[in-house]
Amino acid sequence: PEVDPMEFPDFDKTALSTKTAFVLGHTGGIGQQIVRLLLEKRIFKNVVLIGRREVDFGSDPLYKDVIQRVVDFDKIEEHPQAFEGVDVGFCALGTTRAKAGKEGFIKVDHDYIVNSAKVAKAAGCQHFSLISSTGANPNSWFLYPRVKGETERDVEALGFPRVTIIRPGVLEGERAEPRLVERVAVCAFKPIKYFRPTALSVPMVTVAKAAIVDTFLKPEDGKATEILDNAALHHRGVHFDKIFG
Ligand code: NDP
Repeated sequence: PEVDPMEFPDFDKTALSTKTAFVLGHTGGIGQQIVRLLLEKRIFKNVVLIGRREVDFGSDPLYKDVIQRVVDFDKIEEHPQAFEGVDVGFCALGTTRAKAGKEGFIKVDHDYIVNSAKVAKAAGCQHFSLISSTGANPNSWFLYPRVKGETERDVEALGFPRVTIIRPGVLEGERAEPRLVERVAVCAFKPIKYFRPTALSVPMVTVAKAAIVDTFLKPEDGKATEILDNAALHHRGVHFDKIFG
Protein backbone atom coordinates (compact mmCIF):
# COMPACT_ATOMS: atom_id res chain seq x y z
CA PRO A 1 0.00 0.00 0.00
CA GLU A 2 0.98 3.61 -0.58
CA VAL A 3 1.88 5.70 2.44
CA ASP A 4 -1.28 7.60 3.17
CA PRO A 5 -0.31 11.21 3.93
CA MET A 6 -3.40 11.49 6.11
CA GLU A 7 -2.15 8.57 8.16
CA PHE A 8 1.23 10.19 8.81
CA PRO A 9 0.52 13.91 8.47
CA ASP A 10 3.62 15.02 10.38
CA PHE A 11 6.08 12.74 8.65
CA ASP A 12 9.50 14.28 8.14
CA LYS A 13 12.34 12.00 6.99
CA THR A 14 14.97 14.28 8.50
CA ALA A 15 13.21 14.76 11.84
CA LEU A 16 15.73 12.66 13.75
CA SER A 17 18.88 13.65 11.88
CA THR A 18 20.18 15.74 14.79
CA LYS A 19 19.38 13.07 17.40
CA THR A 20 21.24 10.18 18.98
CA ALA A 21 19.94 6.62 19.10
CA PHE A 22 21.27 3.75 21.17
CA VAL A 23 20.82 0.03 20.64
CA LEU A 24 20.89 -2.60 23.38
CA GLY A 25 21.28 -6.17 22.10
CA HIS A 26 23.02 -4.89 18.98
CA THR A 27 24.78 -8.22 18.34
CA GLY A 28 21.52 -10.21 18.20
CA GLY A 29 19.29 -11.18 15.30
CA ILE A 30 16.99 -8.15 15.51
CA GLY A 31 19.60 -5.80 16.97
CA GLN A 32 21.97 -6.31 14.03
CA GLN A 33 19.18 -5.45 11.60
CA ILE A 34 18.26 -2.30 13.53
CA VAL A 35 21.87 -1.09 13.51
CA ARG A 36 22.38 -1.83 9.81
CA LEU A 37 19.22 0.02 8.78
CA LEU A 38 19.89 3.02 11.03
CA LEU A 39 23.33 3.39 9.45
CA GLU A 40 22.32 2.64 5.84
CA LYS A 41 19.47 5.14 5.90
CA ARG A 42 21.43 7.68 8.02
CA ILE A 43 18.43 8.24 10.21
CA PHE A 44 20.15 9.56 13.36
CA LYS A 45 23.19 11.78 13.81
CA ASN A 46 24.83 9.27 16.14
CA VAL A 47 24.27 5.58 16.71
CA VAL A 48 25.56 4.23 20.03
CA LEU A 49 25.88 0.48 20.54
CA ILE A 50 25.75 -0.52 24.19
CA GLY A 51 26.70 -4.11 24.95
CA ARG A 52 28.80 -6.49 26.97
CA ARG A 53 31.46 -6.85 24.28
CA GLU A 54 32.98 -4.80 21.50
CA VAL A 55 32.38 -5.93 17.92
CA ASP A 56 35.07 -5.69 15.27
CA PHE A 57 33.40 -4.35 12.11
CA GLY A 58 36.71 -4.51 10.23
CA SER A 59 37.03 -1.99 7.44
CA ASP A 60 33.31 -1.96 6.59
CA PRO A 61 32.65 1.75 5.86
CA LEU A 62 29.04 1.45 7.00
CA TYR A 63 30.15 1.11 10.61
CA LYS A 64 32.99 3.62 10.60
CA ASP A 65 31.19 6.27 12.67
CA VAL A 66 29.37 3.93 15.02
CA ILE A 67 30.06 4.48 18.72
CA GLN A 68 30.51 1.39 20.89
CA ARG A 69 30.24 1.43 24.66
CA VAL A 70 31.01 -1.70 26.64
CA VAL A 71 29.17 -2.09 29.93
CA ASP A 72 28.68 -4.53 32.78
CA PHE A 73 24.93 -5.09 32.85
CA ASP A 74 25.14 -6.33 36.46
CA LYS A 75 26.25 -2.80 37.41
CA ILE A 76 24.61 -0.76 34.69
CA GLU A 77 23.87 2.07 37.12
CA GLU A 78 27.64 2.61 37.23
CA HIS A 79 27.68 3.34 33.47
CA PRO A 80 25.62 6.53 33.07
CA GLN A 81 28.20 7.83 30.58
CA ALA A 82 27.24 5.02 28.17
CA PHE A 83 23.83 6.68 27.77
CA GLU A 84 25.04 10.27 27.68
CA GLY A 85 23.17 12.41 25.13
CA VAL A 86 20.76 9.71 23.96
CA ASP A 87 17.33 10.61 22.60
CA VAL A 88 15.85 7.33 21.37
CA GLY A 89 16.61 3.77 22.52
CA PHE A 90 16.02 0.43 20.83
CA CYS A 91 16.20 -2.58 23.12
CA ALA A 92 16.57 -6.04 21.57
CA LEU A 93 18.29 -7.62 24.54
CA GLY A 94 17.30 -11.11 25.55
CA THR A 95 18.29 -14.69 26.15
CA THR A 96 16.45 -17.99 26.45
CA ARG A 97 15.77 -20.32 29.34
CA ALA A 98 17.59 -23.03 27.42
CA LYS A 99 20.73 -20.89 27.21
CA ALA A 100 20.71 -19.17 30.59
CA GLY A 101 18.39 -21.18 32.89
CA LYS A 102 15.37 -19.71 34.65
CA GLU A 103 17.29 -17.21 36.82
CA GLY A 104 19.53 -16.18 33.95
CA PHE A 105 16.53 -15.60 31.71
CA ILE A 106 14.85 -13.37 34.32
CA LYS A 107 18.13 -11.51 34.90
CA VAL A 108 18.66 -10.65 31.22
CA ASP A 109 15.09 -10.32 29.92
CA HIS A 110 13.83 -8.37 32.93
CA ASP A 111 16.54 -6.96 35.21
CA TYR A 112 19.10 -5.96 32.58
CA ILE A 113 16.42 -4.34 30.44
CA VAL A 114 14.60 -2.46 33.21
CA ASN A 115 17.84 -1.32 34.87
CA SER A 116 19.26 -0.12 31.54
CA ALA A 117 16.02 1.71 30.80
CA LYS A 118 16.28 3.45 34.18
CA VAL A 119 19.75 4.76 33.36
CA ALA A 120 18.60 5.81 29.88
CA LYS A 121 15.62 7.68 31.35
CA ALA A 122 17.88 9.51 33.82
CA ALA A 123 20.12 10.46 30.88
CA GLY A 124 17.17 12.15 29.15
CA CYS A 125 16.06 9.47 26.68
CA GLN A 126 12.68 10.50 25.26
CA HIS A 127 11.52 7.33 23.55
CA PHE A 128 12.25 3.72 24.53
CA SER A 129 11.38 1.06 21.99
CA LEU A 130 11.27 -2.39 23.58
CA ILE A 131 11.33 -5.63 21.61
CA SER A 132 9.09 -7.84 23.73
CA SER A 133 7.04 -10.80 22.51
CA THR A 134 3.60 -11.87 21.46
CA GLY A 135 1.65 -13.17 24.45
CA ALA A 136 3.51 -11.01 27.00
CA ASN A 137 1.40 -10.96 30.15
CA PRO A 138 2.56 -10.23 33.72
CA ASN A 139 -0.20 -12.47 35.07
CA SER A 140 0.67 -15.51 32.98
CA TRP A 141 1.38 -18.84 34.69
CA PHE A 142 4.17 -19.47 32.22
CA LEU A 143 7.64 -18.06 32.73
CA TYR A 144 8.33 -16.60 29.27
CA PRO A 145 5.15 -14.51 28.77
CA ARG A 146 5.14 -13.53 32.47
CA VAL A 147 8.69 -12.16 32.43
CA LYS A 148 8.08 -10.39 29.13
CA GLY A 149 4.89 -8.83 30.57
CA GLU A 150 6.65 -7.77 33.78
CA THR A 151 9.41 -6.14 31.76
CA GLU A 152 6.88 -4.21 29.67
CA ARG A 153 5.05 -3.10 32.82
CA ASP A 154 8.21 -2.01 34.63
CA VAL A 155 9.65 -0.14 31.65
CA GLU A 156 6.35 1.65 31.15
CA ALA A 157 6.30 2.65 34.84
CA LEU A 158 9.57 4.55 34.42
CA GLY A 159 7.65 7.38 32.78
CA PHE A 160 9.40 7.89 29.44
CA PRO A 161 7.60 10.48 27.31
CA ARG A 162 7.17 7.62 24.81
CA VAL A 163 7.40 3.84 25.04
CA THR A 164 6.79 1.48 22.14
CA ILE A 165 6.23 -2.14 22.99
CA ILE A 166 6.93 -4.41 20.07
CA ARG A 167 5.43 -7.88 20.21
CA PRO A 168 6.68 -10.09 17.39
CA GLY A 169 5.52 -13.66 16.94
CA VAL A 170 7.95 -16.30 15.74
CA LEU A 171 11.01 -14.71 14.14
CA GLU A 172 12.02 -15.57 10.58
CA GLY A 173 15.45 -14.98 9.05
CA GLU A 174 18.95 -16.35 8.93
CA ARG A 175 21.02 -16.51 12.12
CA ALA A 176 24.69 -17.20 12.73
CA GLU A 177 23.52 -19.97 15.09
CA PRO A 178 20.20 -21.31 13.71
CA ARG A 179 17.54 -22.17 16.33
CA LEU A 180 15.65 -25.42 16.03
CA VAL A 181 12.51 -24.13 17.80
CA GLU A 182 12.25 -21.17 15.42
CA ARG A 183 12.76 -23.37 12.35
CA VAL A 184 10.19 -25.92 13.47
CA ALA A 185 7.66 -23.18 14.27
CA VAL A 186 8.21 -21.44 10.92
CA CYS A 187 7.58 -24.77 9.10
CA ALA A 188 4.55 -25.63 11.24
CA PHE A 189 3.01 -22.21 10.58
CA LYS A 190 3.41 -22.41 6.80
CA PRO A 191 -0.20 -23.46 6.08
CA ILE A 192 -1.57 -20.71 8.35
CA LYS A 193 0.81 -18.21 6.79
CA TYR A 194 -0.68 -18.97 3.39
CA PHE A 195 -4.10 -17.72 4.50
CA ARG A 196 -3.04 -15.13 7.11
CA PRO A 197 0.50 -14.02 6.20
CA THR A 198 0.86 -11.49 9.00
CA ALA A 199 -0.67 -13.46 11.87
CA LEU A 200 2.00 -15.57 13.52
CA SER A 201 5.53 -14.91 12.29
CA VAL A 202 7.60 -11.99 11.09
CA PRO A 203 11.07 -11.59 9.55
CA MET A 204 13.64 -10.05 11.91
CA VAL A 205 14.34 -7.33 9.36
CA THR A 206 10.65 -6.36 9.38
CA VAL A 207 10.71 -6.02 13.16
CA ALA A 208 13.70 -3.69 12.80
CA LYS A 209 12.01 -1.62 10.09
CA ALA A 210 8.84 -1.32 12.15
CA ALA A 211 10.72 -0.22 15.26
CA ILE A 212 12.61 2.43 13.29
CA VAL A 213 9.71 3.88 11.31
CA ASP A 214 7.66 4.01 14.49
CA THR A 215 10.10 6.49 16.03
CA PHE A 216 8.95 9.06 13.43
CA LEU A 217 5.26 8.62 14.02
CA LYS A 218 3.13 10.35 16.59
CA PRO A 219 1.35 7.79 18.73
CA GLU A 220 -2.39 7.47 18.29
CA ASP A 221 -4.37 9.76 20.60
CA GLY A 222 -1.09 11.12 21.97
CA LYS A 223 -0.74 8.11 24.28
CA ALA A 224 2.68 7.63 25.89
CA THR A 225 2.66 3.87 25.34
CA GLU A 226 1.93 2.10 22.10
CA ILE A 227 1.81 -1.65 21.51
CA LEU A 228 2.59 -3.10 18.09
CA ASP A 229 1.46 -6.68 17.55
CA ASN A 230 2.75 -9.05 14.88
CA ALA A 231 0.35 -7.81 12.18
CA ALA A 232 1.15 -4.15 12.97
CA LEU A 233 4.85 -4.92 12.50
CA HIS A 234 4.20 -6.19 8.96
CA HIS A 235 2.19 -3.04 8.25
CA ARG A 236 4.89 -0.72 9.60
CA GLY A 237 7.52 -2.66 7.67
CA VAL A 238 5.74 -1.81 4.42
CA HIS A 239 5.69 1.85 5.41
CA PHE A 240 9.41 1.78 6.08
CA ASP A 241 10.01 0.50 2.54
CA LYS A 242 7.76 3.14 1.02
CA ILE A 243 9.44 5.93 2.95
CA PHE A 244 13.10 4.89 2.94
CA GLY A 245 13.23 2.72 -0.18
P1 NDP B 1 19.32 -12.73 20.11
O1 NDP B 1 19.35 -13.91 21.02
O2 NDP B 1 19.68 -12.91 18.69
O3 NDP B 1 20.25 -11.55 20.72
C1 NDP B 1 20.17 -11.23 22.06
C2 NDP B 1 21.03 -10.04 22.41
O4 NDP B 1 21.07 -9.94 23.84
C3 NDP B 1 22.48 -10.13 21.93
O5 NDP B 1 22.95 -8.85 21.61
C4 NDP B 1 23.20 -10.66 23.16
O6 NDP B 1 24.55 -10.27 23.27
C5 NDP B 1 22.41 -10.00 24.28
N1 NDP B 1 22.56 -10.80 25.50
C6 NDP B 1 22.11 -12.05 25.72
N2 NDP B 1 22.50 -12.49 26.94
C7 NDP B 1 23.20 -11.48 27.50
C8 NDP B 1 23.88 -11.31 28.73
N3 NDP B 1 23.89 -12.27 29.66
N4 NDP B 1 24.51 -10.15 28.96
C9 NDP B 1 24.50 -9.16 28.04
N5 NDP B 1 23.89 -9.25 26.85
C10 NDP B 1 23.24 -10.40 26.57
O7 NDP B 1 17.88 -12.06 20.26
P2 NDP B 1 16.74 -11.87 19.13
O8 NDP B 1 17.17 -10.78 18.21
O9 NDP B 1 16.34 -13.17 18.59
O10 NDP B 1 15.52 -11.37 20.03
C11 NDP B 1 15.43 -10.05 20.53
C12 NDP B 1 14.27 -10.00 21.51
O11 NDP B 1 13.08 -10.47 20.87
C13 NDP B 1 14.46 -10.88 22.74
O12 NDP B 1 14.02 -10.20 23.89
C14 NDP B 1 13.57 -12.09 22.46
O13 NDP B 1 13.10 -12.69 23.64
C15 NDP B 1 12.45 -11.44 21.70
N6 NDP B 1 11.66 -12.36 20.86
C16 NDP B 1 12.19 -13.45 20.26
C17 NDP B 1 11.39 -14.31 19.49
C18 NDP B 1 11.97 -15.50 18.78
O14 NDP B 1 11.21 -16.20 18.06
N7 NDP B 1 13.25 -15.78 18.92
C19 NDP B 1 9.99 -14.07 19.30
C20 NDP B 1 9.53 -12.87 19.92
C21 NDP B 1 10.34 -12.06 20.67
P3 NDP B 1 25.76 -11.30 22.92
O15 NDP B 1 25.83 -11.33 21.41
O16 NDP B 1 26.93 -10.69 23.56
O17 NDP B 1 25.35 -12.64 23.49
